[in-house]
Amino acid sequence: MAVFLLANDDGIHSEGLHILCNRISQLGKVYVIAPDREQSACGHAISLHRPLRMLERKIPGAAQAWEVDGTPADCVKLAIEGALLPEQPDLVISGINRGSNLGTDVLYSGTVSAAIEATLIGFPAMAVSLCDLSGDGFELAAEVAAEIAAVMLKNPLPQNTLLNINVPGVRSEELAGIAVARLGRRQYSKVIERRVDPRGKVYYWIAGEPVMNSEKDTDLDAILQNKVSVTPLQFDLTRADIIPAVSKVIDEACFATVPFKQPTGASAKNAQNTYGSALNVDDLSGGTP
Ligand code: MN
Repeated sequence: MAVFLLANDDGIHSEGLHILCNRISQLGKVYVIAPDREQSACGHAISLHRPLRMLERKIPGAAQAWEVDGTPADCVKLAIEGALLPEQPDLVISGINRGSNLGTDVLYSGTVSAAIEATLIGFPAMAVSLCDLSGDGFELAAEVAAEIAAVMLKNPLPQNTLLNINVPGVRSEELAGIAVARLGRRQYSKVIERRVDPRGKVYYWIAGEPVMNSEKDTDLDAILQNKVSVTPLQFDLTRADIIPAVSKVIDEACFATVPFKQPTGASAKNAQNTYGSALNVDDLSGGTP
């Protein structure tokens, strides 16, 4: 029997998590771990400076469930690396989030980060979000999640890869299909709201209204067309194709001023630095990151 771990960033009491748990329990054994309160937009934060405490909860459909006073990434770490789970999951599913996680917004998303954390530890994962803040449509999104989960179990993704899934907030008869698409660029207008409190002090609120973006072949475009968007994600942000070009520019520019010990010959004429003495590169290792 397949083993699933569910997590989210909306908290242990969120409707999306409960509906997902109920649906996924038809596919196998489900464990749930989630923050004790909403943690939306906390990104990939982990708690290093305080203890984490958890409580066991009962959730219909779950073999076991825990709430944690931490972030979504904390939850996944605790469940797997902290060995709360009595067995290894075949698939980790984060969601169903109330609200979309599209385009560049994945960088802020606690939902997506919980899935990324699972992938970092070495387990297959996917994040599921419903593009409707009212929450109407969790049942449909759970159905989509279950279908894709079953496919993922049979056709595993490559290592270090996860799926980001967004389901449009429409009725099932309005759903126009599934698009596997790249991330778009999420843009907002009126991002910062400046307000004045009752005592006359100025404060700010990060808000913003999404600017409709019609760039083709993106997840944003898929949702505009009432399609489910599926985006394979990797967390290696390296722009690998320009490493040689950047290296050339950096090597030439930096050895002129930074007191590094020159490795070997090539740029020897730049070896002299403005601080007078060369620093041994070995001195740079072993420090704190
Ligand atoms: Mn959320």
